[in-house]
Amino acid sequence: MGEWVTVCEVGPRDGLQIAKSIMPTAAKANWIAAMAAAGVREIEVGSFVPPKLIPQMADTAEIVRAAVALPGLTVVALAPNLKGAQNAYAAGVHRIIVPVSVSEGHSRANTNRGTFEQVAEVGRVVAWLRDQERRVTLEAACATAFGCSIDGVIPTDAVVKVAEGLAQAGADRVALADTVGYGNPAQVHEVVRAVRAAIGPKLAKLHLHDTMGLGLANVLAGLEEGIRGFDAALAGLGGCPFAPGASGNIVTEDLVFMLESMGFSTGIALEKLIAARDLLHAGVPGEPMHGQVARAGIPKTFRAAA
Ligand code: ZN
Repeated sequence: MGEWVTVCEVGPRDGLQIAKSIMPTAAKANWIAAMAAAGVREIEVGSFVPPKLIPQMADTAEIVRAAVALPGLTVVALAPNLKGAQNAYAAGVHRIIVPVSVSEGHSRANTNRGTFEQVAEVGRVVAWLRDQERRVTLEAACATAFGCSIDGVIPTDAVVKVAEGLAQAGADRVALADTVGYGNPAQVHEVVRAVRAAIGPKLAKLHLHDTMGLGLANVLAGLEEGIRGFDAALAGLGGCPFAPGASGNIVTEDLVFMLESMGFSTGIALEKLIAARDLLHAGVPGEPMHGQVARAGIPKTFRAAA
């Protein structure tokens, strides 16, 4: 206890990509600034995909340029391929996430490539980044690592093979993503152990969804396995436009409440984080806002970790 846990806010990407309305650029920039001011150290601010596929992400380069001016913030963006990664680099991101779906069906729906074709694409991004002046880290995210709404059960061995391929391709970090939120705590223990045995400390993070209400239980399983990085979205926004049935990410406010209550430091001021919900709601007023702590209020017993 007393250890650091890094919470990466993914609402501006995973949350807004399925929003029914488009958040105006200025509102998005203000919302991101408010979360950074609350102490969020890493924010996935958007994705570099063709605007005709995901119009909500059309302003990502502009958002990146605003976000890199915020002090102490690691600015992260998703890129599905080399072209997207080149655009992300040009905009000034600190870290690029390339998704690689363990499920063949989701991989084709999401990136138009098979799983190992996409692992090869990660290799091309790594090689290109190595030749650039500025150092940008590459995180490969094993999507649908705990089950898939298209292909069903995803065997642990399949996740291990993809993670190994990504480590060999030169990814700096590997994340395991429960894209559709079908995972359970026992599975998190099993998959994290197996992947860590294969790639060691390159396994950096879990990306969890709360579809079945097991999001924080899965976080706890990850913590028990030594994972110290988690993605979450303010107000539990989120889902994947190419994964039918996916629902919201785990709620950042609830995650911070749990971590700080348990003695894990996140650097995030819970009250300020909850206040940032107003900016999100103002920007996309039609979206449902989740979150137990915001609804109940921060209890008097709450003490942030030292
Ligand atoms: Zn997600």
